[in-house]
Amino acid sequence: MKYDTLNSFLTFLERVAPGTYETSMGYPSTITSNMFGFYDWYMASGIYKIFMNNAGDPFSDDGYLISTLSLERKTIEFFAPFYGISKDEAWGLVTSSGTDGNNHGIYFGARVLQSQTGMQPIVYVSKESHYSNRRLCDLQNLEVRLVECDPMGRMLPEALRSAIYPERPALVIFSMGSTFKGAIDDQVALNRVLEEVKPLGVYRHVDAALFGGYLPFTPYNYLVDRTTLGFDSIAVSGHKFFGLDSPCGMFITTKQVLAVQKAYKVDYLDGEMPMINCSRSALNPLKYYWVVENVGEEGFRQQAGKVLSFSNYLVEALKKIGWPVWKNEFSNTVFIRRPSEATVNKYNLARGYDEAFGGPLAHVVVMQGMKIELIDEFVAALRDELVQ
Ligand SMILES: *Cc1c(COP(=O)(O)O)cnc(C)c1O
Repeated sequence: MKYDTLNSFLTFLERVAPGTYETSMGYPSTITSNMFGFYDWYMASGIYKIFMNNAGDPFSDDGYLISTLSLERKTIEFFAPFYGISKDEAWGLVTSSGTDGNNHGIYFGARVLQSQTGMQPIVYVSKESHYSNRRLCDLQNLEVRLVECDPMGRMLPEALRSAIYPERPALVIFSMGSTFKGAIDDQVALNRVLEEVKPLGVYRHVDAALFGGYLPFTPYNYLVDRTTLGFDSIAVSGHKFFGLDSPCGMFITTKQVLAVQKAYKVDYLDGEMPMINCSRSALNPLKYYWVVENVGEEGFRQQAGKVLSFSNYLVEALKKIGWPVWKNEFSNTVFIRRPSEATVNKYNLARGYDEAFGGPLAHVVVMQGMKIELIDEFVAALRDELVQ
C-alpha cells in the first residue's frame, strides 16, 4: 500500500502552521477539540468496519437499519429541552451544517405557512444576518426583505414594522449571533411588532449557529427559550461551540411543525421522509453523543462561562490600552478597529468594514479553547502598534 500523497499531506501543519494554527482567533472553532479519545473508542468498538448511513427519519422506526438514527434522535432529545422544547414535543435531525439547519427552517417554515394560508411567505431577515439565509431563500425561490439594523447589528423593530407586508404570511429569521458583530436580535421586541402588525401568518426560525451552542449553558438561557419566545425552529452548528471536528449541526423543531410537512412516502426506505436530505452522516451522531457523554451539561456550563469571561477580559484589556473595541452583550464576538495586515494575518482575524465605526474592522471570536496567554499576547501586539 502506498500513502505517499496522504503522508505528504501530513506536513500540512508545518506548512500552514508556523504561528497561524496556534494563534488563530478570528473564527468560531475550538482549537482544543472536545473529541480527544473519540477515535480510540471508535477503533476499539469496531464500528469503523461497518458502513452506516442515516437515511431516514430519526423519530420513526422507518429508514435504513444499519445506522445511528437512534442516537441521532437521542441527540435531539438531549439538546431540545435546553431550547425550551420538551423531549416529547421535539422533532429534529443532525444536519450537515448550520446552513443545512437554516435550509430546513426556511423550507419547513414555508410549508407551515403554505398550509395555513395557501400562500408563499415573504422572508424577513436582518441585513447583518449570515449570508446563508439569503442564499437559501434564493434557492427556495422565496421573496426576501432585508431588514435594517441598529449600528450594533440588531434588527430594528421599527424597520421590521415598516418592511412587513401584512397581506402575506411572514417567515422571520432571527439572528443569534450576527456574523460580524455578534448581534442578538431582540425577539421580545420583534415579536411585539409581529403581534401588532398581524401578518396573515407567522413562522419564526432562529439562526443560532454559534450562540445557540453556549447560551443555553449560561444564566442568559432565556435568550434561546422557546417557552417564552415562541419560535418554531432553531438551527445550531455542531462544529462551533460543541467542538465536533467535522461540519454538522442540529435542526430542532416541534412535532406540530413536522405534522404539516410534505412527507414523501418512500417505498425503498419503507417510510415517510419529511427531511430534505436522504443520506446523512452516521458518524456525526456518534460524535455528538461522545461530546454529550464526555463533556456533558456541566462541562458545557464551564466552557460557556469561559467563553463569556474571556470575551469580557479581552474587551477590558483593549479598553485599557485604548484600542477601539466593541462587543454586544452576551456575545463572544469582539470587534475592533482593524490592526495592521501582519497582525490580521498572524491572528487569522476576520475582516469587516463599517463607516459608523470608522471604517476597517476586524473581529475575534473567543472560544473555550483559547488560552489567556494568547489574549495577552494579542493585546500586547496591538499596544505595540499604538506606540509605533
Ligand atoms: C456559522 C454560521 C452559519 C453557517 O453555519 P455553517 O455551519 O458554517 O453552515 C449560519 N448562521 C450563523 C449565525 C453562523 O454563525
